[in-house]
Amino acid sequence: MAYVISDDCVSCGSCVDECPANAISEGDGKYVINADECLDCGTCADACPNDAIAPEE
Ligand code: SF4
Repeated sequence: MAYVISDDCVSCGSCVDECPANAISEGDGKYVINADECLDCGTCADACPNDAIAPEE
């Protein structure tokens, strides 16, 4: 399990510094979470002003 960032991401970067695992980086048009590094803590989801981050289905 990992959290994923949807297309609602506006690349504001609010989540990046909140991730304790440093699993979030800037991708092509939106930020992306490295599923292998994600700890499933949900901190990034709380930090996103656009509600673009949710647990993987
Ligand atoms: Fe980082 Fe936690 Fe978000 Fe995973 S759920 S990307 S560990 S802040």
